[in-house]
Amino acid sequence: MLNTPYYLLDLEKLKHNLCSMRNAFERLWPNFKIGYSFKTNNLPWLISWFRAQGVYAEVVSTPEYQLAQFTGYDNDHIILNGPHKGNETLLKVIKDGGIVNLDSFEEIRFLMDNLEETKNAKVGLRINFDLEKECPNETITGEEPGRFGFNIENGDFEKAVGILKRCQSIKITGIHGHHSTRTKSLKIFSSITNAICKAAQNIENLEYIDLGGCIFGDKPGAPSFDEYAETITGVMKKHNISQDVTLIMEPGAALVASPFSYVCKVITTKDIKGTRLVFTDGSKKHIAPQMNNISFAYNLPEMNNRQTINRQIISGYSCIEMDRFIDIKEEGELLKDDIIEIMNCGAYTISLAPLFIEYFPQVVVKNNEELITVREAWGLKEFLQKNIIIK
Ligand SMILES: *Cc1c(COP(=O)(O)O)cnc(C)c1O
Repeated sequence: MLNTPYYLLDLEKLKHNLCSMRNAFERLWPNFKIGYSFKTNNLPWLISWFRAQGVYAEVVSTPEYQLAQFTGYDNDHIILNGPHKGNETLLKVIKDGGIVNLDSFEEIRFLMDNLEETKNAKVGLRINFDLEKECPNETITGEEPGRFGFNIENGDFEKAVGILKRCQSIKITGIHGHHSTRTKSLKIFSSITNAICKAAQNIENLEYIDLGGCIFGDKPGAPSFDEYAETITGVMKKHNISQDVTLIMEPGAALVASPFSYVCKVITTKDIKGTRLVFTDGSKKHIAPQMNNISFAYNLPEMNNRQTINRQIISGYSCIEMDRFIDIKEEGELLKDDIIEIMNCGAYTISLAPLFIEYFPQVVVKNNEELITVREAWGLKEFLQKNIIIK
């Protein structure tokens, strides 16, 4: 039973994205692994699907780590990143043979204080460097410093390597370099790979290089998986990185943005100041939770013989004025009960949607012609979990 609004996952598209990314990289670097970024879309069904495809889990908190365990990821298929891992989780992933990329001196200090528990521990270090200087106007922070990892220019990275090298029971085995950027350009990936390879020069036990995520997937006109793979492995080869070293990528949006759409229904219309306002049972909160101005691709119903309206604004159920998400000109008239499908809604939507006015919508997976509900819509019962009220 489909009740609008709902998210719709086209499984064919998801399979295609994963397969084309794997092929592009494995062709050039056979020792290649994907860690799926849970935060990008943490739908439990999706996370368990990636596990079944042999993809690793990329998690950045204790709850995400617990979700990886619950959905059946092997201990050594978990990559733990981020500034707030939780000490217990940090130790557990290290002891269980997972991948941990350290982010701060506090984490190193914690490991040093627990040396009896960290015998033969392997850790990676996340690097922080002035990417904006190499790629002007391309980063999110611009002239402001990035927050994550050990900075190279101020000597923190070298200091961290020094501390860990003096400690016999912990080995540095990886370098991590995720950066979020506005452009996701090939130049960005050339710079990051170069910085990682330079940082890896003095690491004797190098087992992996982890480029992080923030790449495009199948977006028309954007760099392709093949181009990213050529750029990254090209720089690795120039630095004589051994083919035994595992190349890790941590995509989120590149895999999951395009396979999801969002389906809502027209509930009523009004004409005010020469503009047709079209109300739906959906909300911008579900497709752009940060209420940024994205120009959505969308599908409207067949418009055979309907009159043309010069301007229609498609809007949502919430009581927020700016809950408007599509502004269309010279289209057929939208009528009550028409279905509207908004495309490319899989990244930073389901995981960021709020419990505002209405609750989480249903999620449906389309596998060939079969439709499976993988999350029922939340109602009052789910909203009230763990709350008390006065009777
Ligand atoms: C967010 C994040 C990713 C994934 O980013 P996308 O833009 O969704 O590809 C990968 N790695 C880390 C460490 C992240 O924080």
